[in-house]
Amino acid sequence: MNFPFRCPACDAATTVPYADTGMHDVRCASCRARYALYLRQHKFETLFDFGARALLDGYGREATLNFASSLERALEFYLRATTLERAAGTDAPLEDAQAALDATWRTVASQSERQLGAFAFAYLTREGRAPDFLTPGALGTDFRNRVVHRGYIPTRAEVDAYAEKVYAITTRLLRDLGDAVTHAQLEQERAFEAHLLALPDDVQPVFLEHSGILRAARHATHGAPVAAPANDPGAFARVLQERAPLIERLFTKMPKRH
Ligand SMILES: [Zn+2]
Repeated sequence: MNFPFRCPACDAATTVPYADTGMHDVRCASCRARYALYLRQHKFETLFDFGARALLDGYGREATLNFASSLERALEFYLRATTLERAAGTDAPLEDAQAALDATWRTVASQSERQLGAFAFAYLTREGRAPDFLTPGALGTDFRNRVVHRGYIPTRAEVDAYAEKVYAITTRLLRDLGDAVTHAQLEQERAFEAHLLALPDDVQPVFLEHSGILRAARHATHGAPVAAPANDPGAFARVLQERAPLIERLFTKMPKRH
């Protein structure tokens, strides 16, 4: 997957492959200017947009894989945001909290079942209630496993239903987090800053924000009370229809090689 980028110096259009880190080193093919592009976007947001694009293009299996990965990363996002939120409320240095979080994450990183367990207790601790949306039915676990592990080719209706589930759980988590989403955003900004400080003098930093389907930043309430999660079936279908042109613009095909 690639996103379009226009060189600020000479206005030449190019396409940049999405990088896992959100940091992209780019050299303009036309004027040779060098840039470090920082994409202010969380992994679950990017993966959900990948899924939406695949769905719009009619690739149901690819969409399902991306939505499933997005959900896993959304649970991680919740864990990281709440852990850093708690650390910010103490006198302990943030670097120590970050290091402890990274070390703890490593113990669950390779197994999604462990991550689910860690998430469940983090949710209970912060919200004071059980994560009742973590049932296999609500998570669409059976469907996901059939597609991911057994090569099942889903119908469009099945993919739509699965996307609704992932969308509902993720928006609910973001609403629960409210202003805590900013702690995960700051974590990303610190990673960008460390990269930026090491940039050679001739590389210009550029910060990008894509407007896609799920965006944590939209859920920060800036101190206002968090609204109760709404039960809104069909929310994803409406948002997809409304934002389809945006999603189309987020991704560009690479030119064919001759
Ligand atoms: Zn240029």
